[in-house]
Amino acid sequence: MQRYLGLDFGGTKLAAGLADESGRLLAFGRCPTDPAAGPDGAIAALRRLVETFPTSDGAPTASGVSFGGPVDPVCRRTLLSHHGPGWEEFALVDRVEEIWRSPAKMENDANAAALGECRYGAGRGYRHVLYLTVSTGIGAGIVIDGELYRGARGLSGELGHTIVMPGGPRCPCGKRGCLEAVASGPSIARAYAEKIGSNEGSVSAEDVFRRAGAGEARASEILEQAIELLGIGLANAINLLDPDVVVIGGGVARAGEALFKPLRGVVRSVCSPSPPDAVSILSAAFDDRGGVMGAIALVAPRPGQQPTLPS
Ligand SMILES: [Zn+2]
Repeated sequence: MQRYLGLDFGGTKLAAGLADESGRLLAFGRCPTDPAAGPDGAIAALRRLVETFPTSDGAPTASGVSFGGPVDPVCRRTLLSHHGPGWEEFALVDRVEEIWRSPAKMENDANAAALGECRYGAGRGYRHVLYLTVSTGIGAGIVIDGELYRGARGLSGELGHTIVMPGGPRCPCGKRGCLEAVASGPSIARAYAEKIGSNEGSVSAEDVFRRAGAGEARASEILEQAIELLGIGLANAINLLDPDVVVIGGGVARAGEALFKPLRGVVRSVCSPSPPDAVSILSAAFDDRGGVMGAIALVAPRPGQQPTLPS
């Protein structure tokens, strides 16, 4: 029986799963990580987690890695982590191959999650899938004809750093008015805190959704603006790519219809030529398992294909 190991190296949490060739999970686990412990600490924690899996018949067929940060264009090394030291030019794929004695592949987390949703999740059955994560940051993964589109330098999908409000709030990347600076979870929370004259950090985006749901006008206004700008950024990407379906994951997407309903309305009014309901905008199927399912999708056979070893 073919077994595929999926490893999710997030900034503050780690997860691993083992799946069969159809992507069905046989085991899954999560553990915290100390970002200061660097790659060695994270790898050791994942090794302990995987040891609890029922892998009595030896090494997995292949291992996939989802990494929460930029990776080099050939996806063998991590370039850096925004959460802790030690990930600069780190040969993570070599280490994983050595430890689990099988071939490995890696992608950044948005790309991996996009492929996971396309193969096994909300985008299953579609050829062209645009995946968006709206969380601490905003990132995208683009699947064209069932395969990831990485761009010339592996930098595709930086939708979070497209400008939707020239001169707007400062983004962590240094520019002003990026989509991430106006519609990510922390951006929504910050805008609301400013509006009510409260300290930054005293409320979360989740609180803003809750207060808007309870009828608080100021919270509704903040959300309306953030969702409008998110819709504009998304509509721009839809106009460019013409995907079959858009799948949205990440912490902010947990708000559910409070986000999706107005977002669909904005996209419908902004998209040109207006595709009435041609592009479905769906919630991701895998919440905190998205990284692991994406990692498995990197190495497991495409549904309908015979299992083969990755080259
Ligand atoms: Zn930016």
